[in-house]
Amino acid sequence: MNPEQVLGEENPFEAMHARFDLAAQKLGLDPGLYRVLRTPDREMTVAVPVLRDDGSVEVYTGYRVQHSTARGPAKGGVRYAPNVNLDEVRALAAWMTWKCAVVNVPFGGGKGGVVCDPTKLSVSEMERVTRRYIAAIMDILGPDRDVPAPDMGTDGQVMAWIADTYSMHVRSWQPAITTGKPIELGGSAGRVEATGRGVMLSTREALKVLGIQPNGVTAAVQGYGNVGQVSAMMLDRLGMKVVAVSDIRGGVHNARGLDLKALKSHFQKTRTVEGFPGGEPVSNAQLLELGVDVLVPAATENVITSKNAANIKARVIVEGANGPVTARADKILDEKGIYVIPDILANAGGVTVSYFEWVQDRMGMFWTEDEVNTRLEHIMVNSFRDVTDMAKRFEVSNRLAAYMLAVDRVGKVTKMRGLYA
Ligand code: NAD
Repeated sequence: MNPEQVLGEENPFEAMHARFDLAAQKLGLDPGLYRVLRTPDREMTVAVPVLRDDGSVEVYTGYRVQHSTARGPAKGGVRYAPNVNLDEVRALAAWMTWKCAVVNVPFGGGKGGVVCDPTKLSVSEMERVTRRYIAAIMDILGPDRDVPAPDMGTDGQVMAWIADTYSMHVRSWQPAITTGKPIELGGSAGRVEATGRGVMLSTREALKVLGIQPNGVTAAVQGYGNVGQVSAMMLDRLGMKVVAVSDIRGGVHNARGLDLKALKSHFQKTRTVEGFPGGEPVSNAQLLELGVDVLVPAATENVITSKNAANIKARVIVEGANGPVTARADKILDEKGIYVIPDILANAGGVTVSYFEWVQDRMGMFWTEDEVNTRLEHIMVNSFRDVTDMAKRFEVSNRLAAYMLAVDRVGKVTKMRGLYA
């Protein structure tokens, strides 16, 4: 399918397919293999009935999609959000397949979600949603089958409940059933910071390619959750000047650079960056169009579309979030000569350290934070080089190169394993 023909620009599964199709075409992928890789291996939809604190019963919908297990167990986060839908989860699962292949970790791709608003659930309701959802999809999970992790709306505590629920059912402690756990329960040092660290490493490598010293380079970061908050801090440590950040409620801008320490304590008190006195208010739409050197969309999908892509002024876009740019916007950004580090490379630091966590849990032996960070840097820098070498060789964008690298790796393994008839 040609991305021009994609009707639902904001359907992430179609956006994923549009890029996959281009990569398959460029690689001359065998038509049978094309059909196999285009289709998720397995999809599960479950009802999640939960007792609310007020005594009423709510029934939420839960999904788990395994896009591919050709290279290893399915791997991918669980998202709790009111607008989660099956096509979004399918896209996120496929992106995990490609991402794990780009950084060459032995996992396939999966993703899960529960349609709920976590901001309106008490801690005990969150626990009941999590345990019931995991019990419902339990048959397709396992350290060798499918390993969940945090995503929007879920965190280390949710992962602890997932590990406990699974372990209660199988009657033995199974920390490798999930990653992103608290360190005390078999989590890895450096996991919380891993995605943001990977964003920083990708930015650093991109600036090197462009011959730009990081000192004083300006950045705007959309999203102030796990990925956005750490990315902002790490870019600041690299010597860059973070001039704007935002969350779902709004943002803050200061052309002289934000005081990130003061911003963090404002956030800890108010749970939002909105209203931070160290800068002027800025909307999410305005933040994306600021005249900065580096733009890091680290919140959610479809924030750069055919409607606003022409107004983006950043020289470099580093995709902290999954799917922040639509397939139609790709073309506009390409024409403007914007250097884009695609999500399946830029935010792969998270799954890389999740892989380290899974390995450590299975060994029962744990690495220091320095060991984790050194291994992560090695993988991110090598993967960045693999993608940019591919882009040069085929004279394509970094995004298409990353898809080509991934589709080729997954395709080879799928072919090697053969069709079980
Ligand atoms: P999070 O829930 O910790 O934070 C999300 C942030 O985005 C919050 O600040 C929220 O207010 C903001 N946000 C949500 N919707 C928004 C909107 N419409 N406009 C502006 N801001 C909005 O989530 P996270 O773990 O930081 O994940 C963010 C993105 O990064 C997602 O796309 C996720 O799939 C991706 N990602 C996360 C990880 C990880 O390790 N956590 C790894 C790879 C990719």
